[in-house]
Amino acid sequence: MASSETEQERIKEGLAEVFTTSSTFYNPVQQFNRDTTVTVINGYIKNQKGSKIRVLEALAASGLRSIRFAKEIPGISEIVCNDFSTEAVECIKKNIELNGVQDIVKPNCEDAMLLMQKCKKRELQFDIVDLDPYGCAGPFLDGAVQCIKNGGLLAVTCTDLAILCGNAFESCHAKYGSVSLKSKACHELALRIVLRSIESAANRYGRYIEPLISISVDFYVRIFVKVHYGMQQAKKSVCKLSMIYQCSGCSSLHFQPMATPKTEHTFAFARGPPVGETCTFCLHKFHLGGPIWSDRIHNLDFINQLLVDLADLKNLGTKERIQGIFTVIKEELQDVPLYYVLDSLASTIRCSAPSQNAFRSAILNAGYKVSYSHAEKNSVKTNAPMSLLWDIFRSWVKKNPISDRHLTDGSVVKEILSKEPQTTIEFDFHDQAIPDSKKKGLLRWQKNPQPEWGPKTRAKKTNETQAEKRERNQGKRKKRKLEQS
Ligand SMILES: [Zn+2]
Repeated sequence: MASSETEQERIKEGLAEVFTTSSTFYNPVQQFNRDTTVTVINGYIKNQKGSKIRVLEALAASGLRSIRFAKEIPGISEIVCNDFSTEAVECIKKNIELNGVQDIVKPNCEDAMLLMQKCKKRELQFDIVDLDPYGCAGPFLDGAVQCIKNGGLLAVTCTDLAILCGNAFESCHAKYGSVSLKSKACHELALRIVLRSIESAANRYGRYIEPLISISVDFYVRIFVKVHYGMQQAKKSVCKLSMIYQCSGCSSLHFQPMATPKTEHTFAFARGPPVGETCTFCLHKFHLGGPIWSDRIHNLDFINQLLVDLADLKNLGTKERIQGIFTVIKEELQDVPLYYVLDSLASTIRCSAPSQNAFRSAILNAGYKVSYSHAEKNSVKTNAPMSLLWDIFRSWVKKNPISDRHLTDGSVVKEILSKEPQTTIEFDFHDQAIPDSKKKGLLRWQKNPQPEWGPKTRAKKTNETQAEKRERNQGKRKKRKLEQS
């Protein structure tokens, strides 16, 4: 059913101008997602020298994304702009005409999963597949990894961060095949769970992924990977995955790889576990999460190229933010999965938090590396062992004593602070404590610019606003608890 004129809204983004309807609404929050995608696809195509590029946007809604690709990225020969809803496809057709991109963007009305399955023959495969669903991309991964050419680019959004970040870990396992944890590092954990899920889908077809850039912002994750053929490499996947032990008392993290490489083509069972029955720092038990992708999640050469290319991309409304986030990503320690959050470590010890500069200097002065993570403003990503981090706090508390009332028997604080530091901690300022992205004042972690900032809910028939929904849902969990008790 075609929507009436009154329902429509005409919006501009990048070089595109599109009509949207109640079912193909425009979400300004996702402009960063679309701008980033234009940047990444542009960089990817530049490396494909002269080949014909075919793109599939599997869940296209208004078609805004496809139209932007057609108008802003040189070198694309065809974009299949697909949506299951006939209303959406009517909207797409109108928008294609409005923007004059009929020669490149082809509207298509089909179940995305069927369409991708139909395109798994090599001659029908796409160079680039973009999945931008409402919520979980899980159901689409199996088709996506099959309908991509060797070395093709897969872009995946997931907006169900609550599940990926440890609320209902059992749902996360059902949807993605991994147990999530309530962890301060949950935003990077989400990236690594989705990466494992894509890799697992690819491995079933003798394929494997190569992550290019993995981004966690504004309540969604956006992941760009190349998908290659190679049974040998697919077997190596087992060495790129780990289980996580997170202490239920002090939140220290420990990784258990699923296997280790023995020779170039053989593998050894993993030795473990990496922890005892209880935590050596606080004597609490561990929570088990995973498996997660514990290999690299970005390709630095590619990101460096994108940062250079950014100068030439004139139509990106969120360019400043892209530059900021890509630069922080470039500065991340690439071989250290996850991170701690400084305030949260301090609150475990019930002390005032040292400044980031002091804490990072102490790590660097002890001979270890440290970086931020783009996924969390107050993050500490380091190759230093947890014992060193607690030593830093033990030394910090000697200078900044805490109240005795926190030192109750059996408490995490008392267990950790009752031991003397094993390392001499120097808080003197270290010149690498402040990364370039901060010195240059780049836009690194943007504050939410407006209320209702977040993923919009699935297109629906009711007229309920987000605020009304929030009100309706308020107290639900509490109520449920009361009913159960
Ligand atoms: Zn502990």
